[in-house]
Amino acid sequence: MCAAQTFVPKYRGRFAPSPTGPLHLGSLVTAVASYLDAKFNNGEWLVRIEDLDVQRQVPGSADRILYTLERLGMEWSGEVIYQSKRLKIYQEALDTLARRNLIYPCICSRKEIADSSTVGINGPIYPGTCLKRPIDSLRPHALRICTDNNLIEFKDGLRGMCSQRLSNDIGDFVVRRADGMYAYQLAVVVDDADQGITHVVRGVDLLDSTPRQIYLQKLLGYATPKYTHLPVVTNRQGEKLSKQTGAKPIDLSNARRQLLSALHFLGQEPPSLEIFEADISCFWQWACNHWQVNKIPYRL
Ligand code: GLU
Repeated sequence: MCAAQTFVPKYRGRFAPSPTGPLHLGSLVTAVASYLDAKFNNGEWLVRIEDLDVQRQVPGSADRILYTLERLGMEWSGEVIYQSKRLKIYQEALDTLARRNLIYPCICSRKEIADSSTVGINGPIYPGTCLKRPIDSLRPHALRICTDNNLIEFKDGLRGMCSQRLSNDIGDFVVRRADGMYAYQLAVVVDDADQGITHVVRGVDLLDSTPRQIYLQKLLGYATPKYTHLPVVTNRQGEKLSKQTGAKPIDLSNARRQLLSALHFLGQEPPSLEIFEADISCFWQWACNHWQVNKIPYRL
């Protein structure tokens, strides 16, 4: 009889959009780069909808994003998962951290934090006020995780070695918000582990979050994926493209042109549009065969 073998994929990547509006050139770049990197490496590409923040969501945009990906010919593996349906799993992770006395309640207002903190690379560095005072747990409170000052290092696929010391650079960060919602940092770590993600390709706006995620992975006993942080597309004012900064939705009547723009932004050198004829699969065939991550101009 054969012993059961655990299948460990060589490469499992993902695209994890927040449904805050339709796909635009900025999010398309992330989708295309994560897709091509997975396909080039004979890997799987998964899609996860990060819909925990109800206030930022636009109804219908998750379906619209998925429809756009499908129409662009980007096939994902397995079921799409929705963070809003996974609250129990996040609570279990939080319980694990709480059992180790790493979590504490925080009732500080934004103003209180701003008035009492120095500003770090990602906003105010929380000075641990609530760790040092008794908290009435009946008051609405966030939950923070205790950080330490050990050096967290990782090798980014484009940028080389990156490092942070969480206590110095970030401070104890929120893992569950005062409105009861699980924080992005916790949910993303649980989901990446649960989905067996081995490679994360995403925007450089999340580079500073990666050490927090590695910290949580270590505490929860999860493997750390390999990270590659892409340049982000900006508008004329230098702001990251988003619905708020006026990004235009991807126009499906012109799908190949939009895909070509994404490839150009990623430093790839696709032949002119005509060569892809009418069929989008020709585009993907070319793009997968010619994908070169080291051509991405990351110092944009
Ligand atoms: N949901 C995040 C976004 O849409 C991406 C998170 C991630 O890739 O880790 O910006």
